[in-house]
Amino acid sequence: MLQLDALSKTYKTGDAALKNVSLRVPKGQIVGLIGPSGAGKSTLIRCINRLVEPSSGKVLLGDVDLAALGARQLRQQRRRIGMIFQEYALVERLTVMENVLSGRLGYVPFWRSWLRRFPPDDIRNAFRLLDRVGLLEHADKRADALSGGQRQRVGIARALAQEPELLLVDEPTASLDPKTSRQIMRLLTEICEERGLPAIVNIHDVPLAQQFMQRIVGLRAGQVVFDGPPEQLTENV
Ligand code: ADP
Ligand code: ADP
Repeated sequence: MLQLDALSKTYKTGDAALKNVSLRVPKGQIVGLIGPSGAGKSTLIRCINRLVEPSSGKVLLGDVDLAALGARQLRQQRRRIGMIFQEYALVERLTVMENVLSGRLGYVPFWRSWLRRFPPDDIRNAFRLLDRVGLLEHADKRADALSGGQRQRVGIARALAQEPELLLVDEPTASLDPKTSRQIMRLLTEICEERGLPAIVNIHDVPLAQQFMQRIVGLRAGQVVFDGPPEQLTENV
């Protein structure tokens, strides 16, 4: 479970991007973050894994306050959080399989024979994940040979290979056409439900959020202005 406690962020420029945000995300829940540009959605997501340093407040993942950790412990604890990005952040010269396994490792090795050193269980698991996201027959293709939707499927499989306890998803469909966006959102939400995996999804597309999210949190000027099921969302959020 994730719990944010009075999380605030003021950038050096003086922008108060988050003001006392408290939020509890139980196991298995998928939360869509919506709000106008500049509302603080990216800042919120980045404060959770500390790509942005929170100014104050707690980020509790289970019993661990991520906001209070030193650099070494933070590196270990970040393994518990899977990230999915708008521009996929794949390594283009590597194959689909290699990209997925890099999620398991937590870094991208630069020597050629690294695949052979992988434990067979991890390889089997990676094949299972590729099967789940519908890319089994593309396992040996280079990432740069794939379509946008396929790349995001690799991004999802890579995040899952890490066996995360939480997924942070930053505008997963912003680079995709509407039909592919719906397919990716459906896949993502189904996988989270199957695994009881909680997720926070920064989603700029409100109709898409309403269709797929169980819960919507609306941000405006760094504060939560809506928190509830999609059917209660009104136009002024
Ligand atoms: P959103 O993701 O909802 O568009 P952001 O979290 O990117 O919102 O931004 C929230 C506020 O913080 C905005 O006013 C933005 O200009 C400011 N901001 C974001 N990143 C930085 C940064 N690195 N330095 C200074 N201000 C920032
Ligand atoms: P988005 O709208 O997708 O959240 P932005 O276009 O607002 O992203 O920001 C792009 C990048 O610039 C982010 O890394 C963000 O942190 C940074 N940024 C945004 N606003 C500011 C700002 N006022 N000063 C410095 N950096 C900023």
